[in-house]
Amino acid sequence: MDVNTMNKFKRILIAEKERLLNNSKESIKHDLNISTDDLPDEADLAASEINQSLTFELRNRERIMIAKIDTALSKISDGSFGECESCEEAIQRKRLEARPFSTLCVSCQEMHEHREKIYA
Ligand SMILES: [Zn+2]
Repeated sequence: MDVNTMNKFKRILIAEKERLLNNSKESIKHDLNISTDDLPDEADLAASEINQSLTFELRNRERIMIAKIDTALSKISDGSFGECESCEEAIQRKRLEARPFSTLCVSCQEMHEHREKIYA
């Protein structure tokens, strides 16, 4: 992959990471505003618990995403970005444009998902 293309993906990844970090900050701020004292009703309490676990789930997903982005950024630094981790072939350009943090090519990803389905 040429330097220009790599730099393009680097910018996309950094922008996405910043967006995720801002999202997390917003949801933490939102969480701090939740006070169970204002919710004497049991149904409301349950709703607030659901809300909190949803936020947690979301943050968990954001964390995983940020970790994937960091991996992609370190791959850009060492020059292995865009290579499939399994077969070492170049990952399809279209795939990288849709998911710049992909670490597997389409066929390896499909094989991986197929295996996960079997063991799930
Ligand atoms: Zn592959």
